This record gives sequence, C-alpha cells and structure tokens, in this order.
Amino acid sequence: MATRTATARSLKVACPFCMAGEAITLDLNDLRACTCESCSESFSPQQAYDRAAELAAKWASVVAWIESAPVT
Ligand SMILES: [Zn+2]
Repeated sequence: MATRTATARSLKVACPFCMAGEAITLDLNDLRACTCESCSESFSPQQAYDRAAELAAKWASVVAWIESAPVT
C-alpha cells in the first residue's frame, strides 16, 4: 500500500448549512470533523445528517400539502 499523506478528504456532498456543493472537507485525523470551505461551518457527519433530515422533513410536509391541495 502506498503511504497516505492526506489528512483531509473532500466530500462530494452539499453543505447542510449554506448548500454549497462539494465544499466539505473531512478531517481524516478526526472522522467526526467536517468543515465547509464556503461558510466555515464545522460539524460532524451526524449533525449534517440531522440537519439534512430536518430539511427533508420540512420539504416532505410541503410535498404532502401540495398533494392534498385541490387541483384547479
Ligand atoms: Zn457551508
């Protein structure tokens, strides 16, 4: 195996705070430390997931509302 010198890895996910795409860097020395290069927010993958789930839940209620709205 080649020697790994990288200490950070870019993640191809959108920032859950500012929605910047592919601006997230994961610290390979601390796999719970993600940093957004766009808004400088620091968070763990779990926090990012929770935030994304919160956004998804809000959108789900919008979708449900639209589907229940009478069609004109
Ligand atoms: Zn961000």
